[in-house]
Amino acid sequence: MRHKIKGIVLREAPKGETSKLLTVLASDLGVITVNAKGVRKLSSPYIKSAQQFAFSDMLLYEKNGFYTLTEASLIADFYPIREDIKGYSLACYLCEAASAFAVPGEESTNLLRLLLNSLYAIENKISSNTVIKSAFELRLCAECGFMPETECCFVCGDELGSVSMFNLSEGVTHCKSCASGSLGYVQITPAVAKAVTHITQSELSRFLSFRIAESDQAMLSDAAERYLLMRAERGFKTLSFYKHCEELP
Ligand SMILES: [Zn+2]
Repeated sequence: MRHKIKGIVLREAPKGETSKLLTVLASDLGVITVNAKGVRKLSSPYIKSAQQFAFSDMLLYEKNGFYTLTEASLIADFYPIREDIKGYSLACYLCEAASAFAVPGEESTNLLRLLLNSLYAIENKISSNTVIKSAFELRLCAECGFMPETECCFVCGDELGSVSMFNLSEGVTHCKSCASGSLGYVQITPAVAKAVTHITQSELSRFLSFRIAESDQAMLSDAAERYLLMRAERGFKTLSFYKHCEELP
């Protein structure tokens, strides 16, 4: 069976002498593994489409759940991301996280758009890496059925005060009097709560269109990363790599 898809390469691995196995996030098929024959030969017309971050129109042949690349036409390669190790390490993490949350066989248009918008933001330095990372993590969770609630106290419905408590396991916010202790919570300010609401509920094309004071970025970053890791129930090698690169001068 033939499939015509738009897809982005999340990961590439060599296969045999001249081929690659690609992990692709495809609009209609979710995350799939694609056998790309001969794409490591210089003469291959699909070299550029078979690289990590490459976004292409692809023609795939499927047999028994295995996909083989038969044609590709590059739309964007995000190549400049590779020129900056910090941006590159972040892009690798976003790809690994997308791969962990995407479901094989499930329509993934929003996930694909989220990743493309985020890679564009890294390439063009639309926001700081910290803000792009946090926004991606929160929106990824929201798109995958884990919408965080930060508009008011989940228990009493009161407006959130100067400091409120975001419950990581439930994804809801409690006012100081409704929170039970501090275990499993991160503290958030009203500015962070507002940013979370914007990131998760705005039009996908505008999810990065918000401002947050530098003093609140660390809190947003901590809440977003811990929330994603709790939902994913696993760690990410690329996240350790990103953190290592962030510490470089
Ligand atoms: Zn309350």
